[in-house]
Amino acid sequence: MALRQIRLMGDAILEKVCRPVGEMTPRTKTLIDDMLETMYDANGVGLAAPQVGILKRIVVIDIGEGPVILINPEILETSGEQTGQEGCLSLPGQAGIVTRPNYVKVRALDTDMNEFELEGSELLARAICHECDHLEGHMYVKLVEGDLFEVGGEEGEEDD
Ligand code: ZN
Repeated sequence: MALRQIRLMGDAILEKVCRPVGEMTPRTKTLIDDMLETMYDANGVGLAAPQVGILKRIVVIDIGEGPVILINPEILETSGEQTGQEGCLSLPGQAGIVTRPNYVKVRALDTDMNEFELEGSELLARAICHECDHLEGHMYVKLVEGDLFEVGGEEGEEDD
């Protein structure tokens, strides 16, 4: 496992549509392990493959309940609404207010390429929407209500 470099907003790769994963290969398994390690190292709750420069439809999420890996995710259903603060590892130190569905049902493949469905609400729903947007080349900043603002000095966050 290794840390990968997180691409920052402005990098053209973050604006591209990602390709579906056709089969699980050792290389893709390594990518997923590296994405998890990179996300935890950066104290993030989610990371999409294009954020480490790979245009594949893979996202990893951990809202504090253990890792969730979604390959070729497809949002099947959404409902409700939540408005709150959102940030992105590709735009460190900043956040904005974004309205998202409060409930999301997603279908995806696991690392054995078996299909499963996952339901999430609140933060998990927000993370699923945010990460799936990355696979379409969309950054959350387009959805921000008002201006971005600086964040920092959060628990567990260090500037070194
Ligand atoms: Zn993001």
